Amino acid sequence: MIDWNSIDTVLLDMDGTLLDLYFDNYFWTEHLPRVYADKHQISEESSAAHLHSKTRQAEGTLAWYSIDHWSEQLGLDIPALKREIRHMIALRPYTMEFLQQLHSSSRDVVMVTNAHRKTLEIKMEKVDISHWFDRIVVSHDLNSPKEDQAFWHRLQALHPFDPARTLLIDDTESVLHSAREYGVAHLLTLLQPDSRRQKRIDTHFPGIHHFDEIMPGDAT
Ligand SMILES: [Mg+2]
Repeated sequence: MIDWNSIDTVLLDMDGTLLDLYFDNYFWTEHLPRVYADKHQISEESSAAHLHSKTRQAEGTLAWYSIDHWSEQLGLDIPALKREIRHMIALRPYTMEFLQQLHSSSRDVVMVTNAHRKTLEIKMEKVDISHWFDRIVVSHDLNSPKEDQAFWHRLQALHPFDPARTLLIDDTESVLHSAREYGVAHLLTLLQPDSRRQKRIDTHFPGIHHFDEIMPGDAT
């Protein structure tokens, strides 16, 4: 599925790729609606519906990924609420082994995430994998989410890479489309980003279930 000899740079998404998306899905669809319902003395159903319509409008934009934005919009301390359920933050199977093997190869290994820096911090407090990366790039710092072409141009300007010899693994289809448009040649998605949800069957990109399917081994 992957010819490791033709890859120099590996770009890895965080949520739903390296980490189980269950934490994020649970936070936005259960934990936050409960807290918001409690605050406004409304039912959990109407709280969930309200939050869903509010967040949907911003989907795929930087604001959507910004917890400062949502703290302000909802009048809640989102980082503190995320910390309340931090015990649910977990690596996906084989993430550690995969990162270790990549780290010992000569490839450039970069985390590229749309997560807000505060979210990244909360997650790394629980599962610190940051030392396995040559760099961690937060799209907020580049002022564009991965869904926008500007992100890739700015990433290139900051840390030059050869798109023809680059692999991106990301569970978000719109991000993969954006990377393909930029010219990233090797693209993979995840078939089950959230361990508690159904496996996806409608992906437009080749997918893996777990990283053990694509271990680089000792090929450098
Ligand atoms: Mg993701």
